[in-house]
Amino acid sequence: MDRPRITIFDTTLRDGEQSPGCSMNVEEKLRLAQQLDRLGVDVIEAGFPIASAGDFEAVQRIAATVRRPIIAGLARACKGDVDRAWQALQGAARPRIHVFLATSDIHLKYKLRITREQCLEQAREAVRHAKSLCPDIEFSLEDATRTDVGFLCEVVEAAIAAGATTVNIPDTVGYSMPEEYGNLIRTVREKVAGIEKVTISTHCHNDLGLAVANSLAGVQGGARQVECTINGIGERAGNASLEEIVMAMRVRPDRYAYETAIASEQLYASSQVLAEITRVPVQPNKAITGRNAFAHEAGIHQDGMLKNPLTYEIMTPQSVGVPDSRLVLGKHSGRHALALRCEQLGHKYERRELDEIYRKFVVLADRIKKVQDSHLLELMQDFGSKGGNNGNGSQGRKFSPTGTLSFPRAASAAAGAGGNESHPAQVSGSAGQAQPRPGCPAPANWFGGALVPVTDHHSEQDDYLWGV
Ligand SMILES: [Zn+2]
Repeated sequence: MDRPRITIFDTTLRDGEQSPGCSMNVEEKLRLAQQLDRLGVDVIEAGFPIASAGDFEAVQRIAATVRRPIIAGLARACKGDVDRAWQALQGAARPRIHVFLATSDIHLKYKLRITREQCLEQAREAVRHAKSLCPDIEFSLEDATRTDVGFLCEVVEAAIAAGATTVNIPDTVGYSMPEEYGNLIRTVREKVAGIEKVTISTHCHNDLGLAVANSLAGVQGGARQVECTINGIGERAGNASLEEIVMAMRVRPDRYAYETAIASEQLYASSQVLAEITRVPVQPNKAITGRNAFAHEAGIHQDGMLKNPLTYEIMTPQSVGVPDSRLVLGKHSGRHALALRCEQLGHKYERRELDEIYRKFVVLADRIKKVQDSHLLELMQDFGSKGGNNGNGSQGRKFSPTGTLSFPRAASAAAGAGGNESHPAQVSGSAGQAQPRPGCPAPANWFGGALVPVTDHHSEQDDYLWGV
């Protein structure tokens, strides 16, 4: 049974980096690109080379280092931009030039001050020039969802005739509704000559909270590439979230019978690496990767989960790489616990490397008592990334005594409030509120003296460690 394959185009390093507070330096971009490689994305948009020397260098370094995925560089529809992008992509194993031009009347009139005819000609020229340099060309019609549909089809057709191999229909301003967006993709597929030779792509923004829904509607309309970002970061309200799109397809193949090459067990690590680099924390109730995404607080939920996880869980935490343990790492933690946590954070080590990491870890633990994921990430960063677990790990469930459900006494405190909730996988109770929850004994009592007790609840990492 062959399902259509959806190309996952990650733009965390380009559109994502444009979000306030999310800028990254070259080293950080390279590190994230390596994690995106482990995650299995098909295309990494590494930057906008003409925008700055830093962007240029980042694209160049990523192109030289990350060899499996396609590496894309963004360019406005003009010769200077295209040449600069191509220059940055020289060392890439699989380069793609991504050319864009606005097509909506409002952008043409007020931003570009050109007519539709000029726009059409500029698109044609830019794609033709890019094609003379590189076989893989993507063309994006900025503000496509507010573009006259007849004109949009005309531009797409011209771009294909000039050599574009992917045509992207962005909802740049996050204005579209799912049905409308799906229909737009369908119209492009039906009306544009030559469309069967190219890949149609979605690129949706989240201004109305519909980026993921729109992207999925676009796929149903015939798009075979989705542009998205880790944690949904991006301009304004952000881009479509990669992890949500991938897991929607994986959890509901009955509605979305499509394949992606994403190693879903790497989703959590990717989210953590990005949050750690940008220092922008993931919202607690963020789907898939938020610290409460798999936390069940209401008593009736916990009771159901213990009897059969399917009562409230539509996917396992393990399937997206969420650590299934709330164990806090301290100096009494063993090598195995450390190796496991490193792996969950996207770093897998050989035995000898692990020995060295472990030695450093013990020294650190002795000094700061409670080693949080952020410390561990820093420690691993110092050591240098040594590849990751890209395999299809076990989907099996391991509810250890210290796993997701080890809040039996918290249950009684919360049971009243959430008792009638019946929606599957609902995270009820106090989303966003730090624990320990009322009624919980001190953490030290749960695990005895072998683990470092958590007595404060102020840091993100504490919340995560105790809240998953
Ligand atoms: Zn965008």
